[in-house]
Amino acid sequence: MKSSPKATSGTLHHGKKDLVADWERLFKVFIRPEEDACRETLIKYMEQILFGLNDFLKKHVGITESASLKDLASRFAGTVINDEPVTKLSDVITCLINDLAPHAVNVASPYFVGHMTSAIPFFMVHLKTIVSALNQNVVKLETSKVVSILEKQVIAKIHRMVYAKSDAFYLEHVQNTDSSLGVFTEGGTTANLTALWVARNSAFPPKAEFVGIEADGLSAAFRAHDIDQCVILVSRLGHYSLKKAAGILGLGNNAVVPIDTDADFRIDITALKKAISGIREKSPKIHIMAVVGIAGATETGTVDPLAEMADICKTYGIHFHVDAAWGGPTLLSAKNRHLLSGIENADSVTIDGHKQFYMPMSCGMVYFNDPRHLDVIAYYSHYVNRRGSVDLGIKSLSGSREANSLILDGALKIMGKKGYSLLIDHGIETAALFAAEIEKRPDFQLVTRPVLNILTYRYCPEHLQKQLAAASSDERKKINKRINGANLNLQRLQREAGKSFVSRTTLRADHGHEDDIVVLRCVIMNPMTTISILGDILDEQEEIAKKRLPVCGL
Ligand SMILES: *Cc1c(COP(=O)(O)O)cnc(C)c1O
Repeated sequence: MKSSPKATSGTLHHGKKDLVADWERLFKVFIRPEEDACRETLIKYMEQILFGLNDFLKKHVGITESASLKDLASRFAGTVINDEPVTKLSDVITCLINDLAPHAVNVASPYFVGHMTSAIPFFMVHLKTIVSALNQNVVKLETSKVVSILEKQVIAKIHRMVYAKSDAFYLEHVQNTDSSLGVFTEGGTTANLTALWVARNSAFPPKAEFVGIEADGLSAAFRAHDIDQCVILVSRLGHYSLKKAAGILGLGNNAVVPIDTDADFRIDITALKKAISGIREKSPKIHIMAVVGIAGATETGTVDPLAEMADICKTYGIHFHVDAAWGGPTLLSAKNRHLLSGIENADSVTIDGHKQFYMPMSCGMVYFNDPRHLDVIAYYSHYVNRRGSVDLGIKSLSGSREANSLILDGALKIMGKKGYSLLIDHGIETAALFAAEIEKRPDFQLVTRPVLNILTYRYCPEHLQKQLAAASSDERKKINKRINGANLNLQRLQREAGKSFVSRTTLRADHGHEDDIVVLRCVIMNPMTTISILGDILDEQEEIAKKRLPVCGL
């Protein structure tokens, strides 16, 4: 479309007096600038975004004391929307880079090893920009066309990574409008919700006088199937999103039954079997809706014995879901994919794009062994999402949705399995080196040995380790309490110093004793995080402990 000459005149530069909203200026923000000066300005802004933002705070890693949360909150207390424009694009960008970014968190620092959010490759910013510029809506073909078709292809690629079915299987299903090998979601939370939604609806199929749970609701479903209660079994380390899902699905979050873990923080298979037979003996009216295996527990990075769990679920006809939000991409590594073996027998699998696929926020996915399994959550409408169409919105919790598949597809092409393997293997190997370093230092205790790239440990001076070993149960509790307090403070003091960041959590780590143990948690996904940097982090912790923790009673 040719724009009106009036609309193309002038530039994007305005003085303060030009900050008004009118049609002439409104047009300008929608059309492509044709003047060289204007184009250069826009390009310059992109440079600022790419490099200015990247430099934004090499200095501070954690939340720093220089601006307290209270202070920041008071700066962001105005709630009135301005009538007239108050800033132009260049000022907004400058303000974001100079004023806001320094108080954000430098998740890209190699010293930021506390969470599952980290540096992303530069090209992700380009791919994300293209997604915005194209602005496709993959809820339906009419607003995305080839992008929906590409999404089906990318989904099939990741499905193949998980389930490794035959060439013939993928040829049949990759572009089949009736098949859904998986679906993109906002994140792991909604991926888990989708999987359990599918499991719930499959558990209550239509019967005489009962159309289905999605239409008739939970109490009709329970009546029709003579069920009183549904439960979901997962180890104590299950992500809290499973509880959310149980709540949303009307089961009540108490439906998520925690199963004990073994000494390696994997679900205790004997305990799982006991729980299943216990529930079955208790009442035929309690339905075990799903068993969830974890492939990379959020707190410890540990992986459940997936193959054994799959066998158990097969025996009892229970939906087996694997939460591989964190660990899924490990399957790309020839060296380490065996850690997830058995995942191919899951009915459904959650994988996050914004974790170990190193995609920008936010992207989750859920995959299904059976290409028709998602049919139980299909919604049709007259104006979009018609029966038999490619419309991806038919079997999706989301409505309108960005084309994240473009980013993942681009990344897979740029990185290849080998590129991703380098990242994954680096994390796993560095975590193992770090564990060895922790064990070498007398004042630290490794609490969870890394399987993938997450480990937990605590500061516990040698003399207290000796006391603990000889202590009675009461004494032990007291000592652990003191050590917990010290680790809590240690983590906070290090974060406040702003040089490095590890997170903390509380585990029941003292096997057989049930003492709660506060642990420091390290997630190693940044390829720039080396063992020497991790050594620095331990040095700093030792220094903080020696200088500042005597006040905590250590
Ligand atoms: C991160 C994570 C989730 C939740 O994913 P979000 O993307 O944060 O919604 C669920 N399960 C596991 C194991 C995770 O690590």
